[in-house]
Amino acid sequence: MRAETVHIRQMDRWDNPLDPTMSPEQVERILALDMFRNMDAGSFPALLSLPRLVLNETRLVEYQRGDLVVRAGDYGSSAFLVVRGNVAVILPPGLPAELLGRSAPKRKSLFQVLRQLWNDSRMPETSHYTSPTAGPGAITRSAGRSDSTRVTLANVDTLLSKQPSVILEAGDLFGEIGALGRFPRSVSVVATMDVEILEIRWQGLRDFRRYDAHFRDHLNQLYRERSLKAHLRETPVCRHLAQELLTDLEQAAISEVYGETDANNPFWRPQGESPSDRLAQEPMIVAEGQVLDGLVLIQSGFARISQKFNHGHRTVGFLGRNRMFGLSEALQQWRTGHPVPSQFSLRAIGYVQTLRLPYAILASHVLPHLAPEFAQAALTTRNGTVFEGLDREDVGLIEFLVEYHYINATAAMLINLDRCVRCDECVQACARAHDNNPRFLRKGRRHDAVMVATACMHCLDPVCMIGCPTGAIHRNERGGEVLINDRTCIGCGTCANSCPYGTILMVETRDAAGRYQHNQETGLPILKATKCDLCLEQWGGPACQRACPRHALLRANMWDTRNLRRWMGWR
Ligand code: SF4
Ligand code: SF4
Repeated sequence: MRAETVHIRQMDRWDNPLDPTMSPEQVERILALDMFRNMDAGSFPALLSLPRLVLNETRLVEYQRGDLVVRAGDYGSSAFLVVRGNVAVILPPGLPAELLGRSAPKRKSLFQVLRQLWNDSRMPETSHYTSPTAGPGAITRSAGRSDSTRVTLANVDTLLSKQPSVILEAGDLFGEIGALGRFPRSVSVVATMDVEILEIRWQGLRDFRRYDAHFRDHLNQLYRERSLKAHLRETPVCRHLAQELLTDLEQAAISEVYGETDANNPFWRPQGESPSDRLAQEPMIVAEGQVLDGLVLIQSGFARISQKFNHGHRTVGFLGRNRMFGLSEALQQWRTGHPVPSQFSLRAIGYVQTLRLPYAILASHVLPHLAPEFAQAALTTRNGTVFEGLDREDVGLIEFLVEYHYINATAAMLINLDRCVRCDECVQACARAHDNNPRFLRKGRRHDAVMVATACMHCLDPVCMIGCPTGAIHRNERGGEVLINDRTCIGCGTCANSCPYGTILMVETRDAAGRYQHNQETGLPILKATKCDLCLEQWGGPACQRACPRHALLRANMWDTRNLRRWMGWR
């Protein structure tokens, strides 16, 4: 028998302002800042008017001298505008790790862990969603930063005198690459005096960019310049170069894009399409046998490395963000003086952005500075392919993982069907850890004995986050896991529609008394999004993996091939 229902008002985007205490005077003050004064308020639709976006998507924050505003390595969902004072961007090599104090993830208490062993509540997905009238304090802060993680550096002048840095002043924007690109922060930013900063949630930044052409151009320009710099600094062959060499490289680097620009395009190909048909449709970045002028760096997206085999091609690996193609050939050319044709093809899977460093600048600025052991390793490996060494053992598995974009996974749930005895312990352990509601389906695509279960893979590029109107789906600041904030999810289903792997379930919500919650205006059930959270609140990691008595289940990071190989029993 279906439980009783209760009718409540459904939350919408505006029920979760970034600063619930923002006053009309503060909104006026913010609108008078150059960034907003230069926007064309008339180009914004009435429902997303400029004052409304400022009221809901921004907040003024005071930082004291020495406070870290942004920490390198964190994931963040906000950009920042300096309103008053100065901040310093700490350039690589950056602050020592011990200065970047980090908070430990909040785990369940021992009592809570024990209680979930006997807790047999049959109530599905009790919601924290009660009413949109919750006062200040019920609202989450931006997903990327909270005051609990604020770190203050002592002796900031001494620190800055030892670090290369750039000063940003009132009117300067920063943090927009991490906010819009879903990347970790590449640098730390510290307040050099008492400063006032406007934090802008990425949903707001997205709408300012969407409706104001001038701001869009400015942001795109900043994004191009800064992401280029950040990318070169993160690339292993450039990381240790002096600033003047990096500046020359920035000027010489050629940006290129391949494939479709629709970030949400479906990964799946039509049934029955052969692997060679699929390969033929992927835009070629470098063809096998071609003499490549320099080095290709992957800025975003994934690229497939393949090689001719009999009458077709076989996939031997793939490259993702910050990986390089062509270093071995460039080194050989540098040593012998003769151009070397590529032994492999490189193709774009979906949409790929690359940087090409021409051979001439590589030979003068990069290759002479490579550590001998690094150069030797580059000469003896094949373009750093992730599945180096696996192709002889299972070409088909690599094709499968590349084909269905499982290479995007930092925590795919793999089940070895030869070892799995279908005891369902993994599902039950997941249910116990999540109020009796398992967050995955023990079914999915298979390749021979390997099944990829339908569980959130905590993607390198989580496209599920792109359209969320409230920022409820976000990355964990510290580890990058993709999480959903129960309190700010308004159940719109955008994320579930965007996830190409179908791992987000929209479930009906109930209140603490077990009554189903319905929208008082439409009468329809209120939903919320749920998915695997990698048991971040649990001790010991994912409950599913720990529960399996046959070691048949692995939460696999596709970039940790050593672990994957060991689990597969290959070596
Ligand atoms: S919900 Fe889907 S797209 Fe988002 S991280 Fe999980 S698997 Fe990736
Ligand atoms: S359903 Fe998904 S997209 Fe919509 S608010 Fe909730 S988390 Fe965000």
